[in-house]
Amino acid sequence: MLNHDDLRRWRACTRRFWLHRRGEHAAAVPCATGKVHAVATDASAEAAVIHGPGIDAALRASFPGAQVIAAPNTPAEWNAAMQHTLDCLGSDRVAPEGWAILGACLTSEDRAQVRIDVLSCGERGLRLFKVRYATVGDEADVDAVALWTHVAARCGLRVQHVGLLLVDTDFIYPGHGCYAGLFREVDLAPVLGSRPVAAWLTAMRDCARGPQPPASPGLHCTQSGGCEFIHDCQACTQTASALPPAPLASLEVVGRALAAELREEGHVDLHSVALPRFSNTRHRRAVRAIQQGRPVLDPEVAALMQALPYPRHSLRLDTIGFAVPVWAGTRPYQVLPFQWTCDVQSAAGDCARHAFLADGVGDPRRVFALTLLQALGSTGPVFAYNAGFERNRLRELAQHFDDLAPALEAVLPRIVDLFQLARAHYYHPVMAGSWSFKSISRAVAPELLLDSLDEIQAPSAQAAFACSLQPGLDTLTRQQLRTALLTHGQRQTEVLRRMLAVFDGAPHFLD
Ligand code: SF4
Repeated sequence: MLNHDDLRRWRACTRRFWLHRRGEHAAAVPCATGKVHAVATDASAEAAVIHGPGIDAALRASFPGAQVIAAPNTPAEWNAAMQHTLDCLGSDRVAPEGWAILGACLTSEDRAQVRIDVLSCGERGLRLFKVRYATVGDEADVDAVALWTHVAARCGLRVQHVGLLLVDTDFIYPGHGCYAGLFREVDLAPVLGSRPVAAWLTAMRDCARGPQPPASPGLHCTQSGGCEFIHDCQACTQTASALPPAPLASLEVVGRALAAELREEGHVDLHSVALPRFSNTRHRRAVRAIQQGRPVLDPEVAALMQALPYPRHSLRLDTIGFAVPVWAGTRPYQVLPFQWTCDVQSAAGDCARHAFLADGVGDPRRVFALTLLQALGSTGPVFAYNAGFERNRLRELAQHFDDLAPALEAVLPRIVDLFQLARAHYYHPVMAGSWSFKSISRAVAPELLLDSLDEIQAPSAQAAFACSLQPGLDTLTRQQLRTALLTHGQRQTEVLRRMLAVFDGAPHFLD
């Protein structure tokens, strides 16, 4: 049997399809175990998108009279699911308003097996949809719909309409599970004709029976969550690997254009380039750090830091944008804050740690704002990294809560962007030309790089938070996820405090 995952792999890379058909695929770890997901698998591409815990409810609300056919896992379950599908389709009853089959299972005589997201009723036949929790579809979606349409036709079904159901970003969730209107339809009929599905199925079978296709490295190896066989291909070809990590002294540290000039001049890395070659102060500082093998900090930073009073606040925020909104009054993909962490240092050297993590019950923004204002107080600088993000979230909260706006807006001028300070005055060789939070963490607090989210194999705080909201999740797993998120926040503010210590000129950070 061939299915739409086979088609997706074959269309992306025949070798990937071939390896998968030979059973050499990796296994995913399901969310409910507390491990959000494991290695790069096909599932991870979808899981990386934060759909939100309401996706089942959203689809059912759009088709209130739907028959839901659970995903089959064994041949016996497939047979039962196909029989269930045929029973639903064969009923003589007039389809009521909102009738549909969610997860219709069909097999064609040319041995293609499909599970169709939505089959509903039109005036002249069936309406077939693929559901995509995204604002746009892609070529793989059109391929899948083409295959489903092919199988439905081979099974004798009259399909009147084919399309995608995409998330409508104008939708505002009114609450109480009312998701009707979340999806918008996109008609795929005009583009399906160019897809020769029958010929594809024949070619896929020939491929599966043939010899192992050679590795053909390219963008397809890393797109949509990455290929599960990337390590196999790296082993059999030098060029199959994604770009190797940039060496610390790579010419690219000073930018691609300048790197090209330096290469023309005969340099292979930055060790051989004389400092006067660089007119840009930032480049000169970086190259000096690389050539000395230790960090460089401009001495004037200490004076800038000394001018900043106490209490000093180190702040990190986390936000999430669910495809299917969870909280009433919010839209799909709206950026919503769910966690803050703030360390407050006194002039005497004491540090008080504060944090907020939404419990998932109701829109957390007001409690988020109130508790944050309390932690920030009314005086003292607020340090953040790439602070435009924090400023924008505070502005959004001020726009949403008129009564809190004066206090939230009063925080804005207190924000000090450590990214700007780092970029203008600091370089450590391990940063390899990057000023991302991860790179600067590697420089100032390498022992904090192993995040609590890594320990639960969560790819991001957003994924861990979304997982913690899953209905039916057991209490222990939910608590593990929340603990990991709180620890993650604390480690991030710890990195900010290490940065402050560096900029204050703490000598041991510069050895
Ligand atoms: S790593 Fe790339 S070349 Fe290798 S199987 Fe996967 S997609 Fe194909």
